[in-house]
Amino acid sequence: MKLLVPVKRVVDYNVKVRVKSDQTGVELAGVKMAMNPFDEIAIEEAVRLKEKGVATEIVVVSIGVAACQETIRTALAMGADRGILVETDASPEPLAVAKMLRALVAKEEPGLVIMGKQAIDDDMNATGQMLAALLGWPQGTFASKIAIEGDTATVTREVDGGLETVALTMPAIITADLRLNEPRYASLPNIMKARKKPIETVKPADLGVDPAPRLTTLKVVEPPTRVAGKKVGSVAELVGKLRTEAKVI
Ligand code: AMP
Repeated sequence: MKLLVPVKRVVDYNVKVRVKSDQTGVELAGVKMAMNPFDEIAIEEAVRLKEKGVATEIVVVSIGVAACQETIRTALAMGADRGILVETDASPEPLAVAKMLRALVAKEEPGLVIMGKQAIDDDMNATGQMLAALLGWPQGTFASKIAIEGDTATVTREVDGGLETVALTMPAIITADLRLNEPRYASLPNIMKARKKPIETVKPADLGVDPAPRLTTLKVVEPPTRVAGKKVGSVAELVGKLRTEAKVI
C-alpha cells in the first residue's frame, strides 16, 4: 500500500514569532523554518507502517516556496521514499491545498493519506477534513493510535473528555494528533541517503488549481502583554482587590 503524507514548512515551533510592523502578518525574514510538528508525527507513523510491512511506499508532498524542498528532504531522511514539491509563492489556504492534494491523490492512488491535524502557523485544522470531503473518503481525525488490518484502518481519536475509536474502510484520510508517536531524529547516514532520493517539482496549474487566497487578512496583532502582579499585605486586602479591582468575586 502506498501512503501519501503532506508536510508543511512553517516557522520553527521554538521561535518566538514577531508581528510585522505594518500588521499584515508575522515576520518571516531570517526566521528559522521547520516541518510542521504534527506532520513530523504523520511521517513517523508512515515510516513505522512501512517498517511493519503494512506500507510499501511513502510519498511526501509539500506545497509552497522552493525552500519547501528542505522540508521534503527532512521527511526523506526520516524514511519517506520520494517527494513532490508543488511550487508556488502564494501561501495557499486549506481549500486550495486540499484541491491540489486531491489531484495528487488521483495521480498517485495511495491507500491512505496521513497528515497533520493542524498547521501551527495558521491553526486552520481544516485541510484533512476538506480533502476527505472532496474525495468522498472516510476520515479519522486527531488520531492517537492507528491499526491497519486488511482494508480497515482502526483509528483511536482524541476527543473532548476521552477517546473515540472508529473503523475506516480504506482508502481514507487520517490526521495525526500529538500523542500518536514520538518522531525520530534522522541519522547522518539517512540524511546522506535522502540527498539521492527523487523530488519531482510541479506547479499548481499542472494540478488545475488556482492557489490565490480567498481570505483577506485585515490585521495581525501581538497578544496583550501580561501586566505585572501585585503583592498584598493581608487576606482582607486580597479579597477586597478581587472584589473591587479584578471583579471576580
Ligand atoms: P491546516 O488545515 O492548515 O491546519 O493544516 C492541516 C494539515 O494539512 C497540515 O498538518 C499538513 O499535513 C497539511 N498541509 C496544510 N498546508 C500544507 C502545505 N502548504 N503543504 C503541505 N501540506 C499542507
